[in-house]
Amino acid sequence: MVTIQLESISKSFGATKVINNLSLEINDKEFLVFLGPSGCGKTTTLRCVAGLESIDEGKILVDGKTINDIPPQKRDVAMVFQNYALYPFMTVRDNLSFPLKLRGVSRDVIEKKVQQVSELLRIQVLLERKPKQLSGGEQQRVALGRALIRDPKIFLMDEPLSNLDAKLRVETRTEIKRLQRELGITTIFVTHDQAEAMALADRIAVLDKGVVQQIGSPNEIYHKPETTMVAQFMGSPAMNMITGTYDSSTQDVISIKISNSESYSWQRKETQDIKSSYKGEVLVGFRPEDTSFRSGPGDDGIPAEIYVSEPVGTHTILTLKVGEKLVKAFAPSDASPKIGERGSVSVKDGHVHLFSIDGKRVA
Ligand code: ATP
Repeated sequence: MVTIQLESISKSFGATKVINNLSLEINDKEFLVFLGPSGCGKTTTLRCVAGLESIDEGKILVDGKTINDIPPQKRDVAMVFQNYALYPFMTVRDNLSFPLKLRGVSRDVIEKKVQQVSELLRIQVLLERKPKQLSGGEQQRVALGRALIRDPKIFLMDEPLSNLDAKLRVETRTEIKRLQRELGITTIFVTHDQAEAMALADRIAVLDKGVVQQIGSPNEIYHKPETTMVAQFMGSPAMNMITGTYDSSTQDVISIKISNSESYSWQRKETQDIKSSYKGEVLVGFRPEDTSFRSGPGDDGIPAEIYVSEPVGTHTILTLKVGEKLVKAFAPSDASPKIGERGSVSVKDGHVHLFSIDGKRVA
């Protein structure tokens, strides 16, 4: 069993606090993803777990024991980076064997382990090649193999897929997920790609400015974002967000301000419970996929006009002009929207997210 606990850890570089009193627990065999914008402290947190950076405050515990003072080579942690860092003059076989040779493992055992790992990663046919004779995806598989070969307690991955092209990225992602499940190694994976985080994680920890904004399953994070930062970071295109007003005591009416002089109101038919009674200014969030456009005059919905239409194959992304705001909506791929076409926009019942002006979820 391998659990990791980060207890109120902080880390500064000079005057800049990069990790700010961060606490979280990673369960045995869990695949946890750190997700967040560039510079939010993901890599630094991972390097602190690996022991490559020291922490200024707090504790890091593995299986309940503090590891703050244990050097990296004794932490039994394997790390895979964005650049594969293979030894260029060694064959794949030697690259894989190297971590075991360093530990004085016997030749027979090394041979057996190389065989096992190369079967697992399907790189048997590459064993006698040098790194420069491999594609990016193959090099990354070898790097994974080299990390796995010594049966580490913990697997840390820092954007390991970023150097791969889009297709290979998705394929290797699938391989990593299968491998992690099969081996059951407690894993932390860093990415700034929300789709990658959703696809891989048991739980996602969304970080911003060195602070955990939210931690939860991919579905929780996507469907019930606790802050506007999380709401707009998850999903592509990002969630629409318009200021408005909301008063939970007056028949649940939401009003959005679509220009300086115009507002549009509708009755809230949400099924989610509101956290507490609320009255005042809000940020009204709704995802493009929960938003639709109907052309022509309609009795319901907010008047809108098509500003841009972008077919992406599975559907078409519409940018709609609503008052002075631009709102994204999805249309079916067989629709033929025209720029300038007028109609109305509506949001699926139960899919409106309300946030206070300081960005905290209200409902
Ligand atoms: P990215 O997705 O761009 O890799 P990240 O979330 O992993 O970003 P970190 O690499 O952890 O972010 O960096 C967090 C902040 O700490 C950044 O502002 C970075 O410039 C700073 N930083 C990181 N390492 C050092 C260092 N050794 N010395 C000084 N500042 C550093």
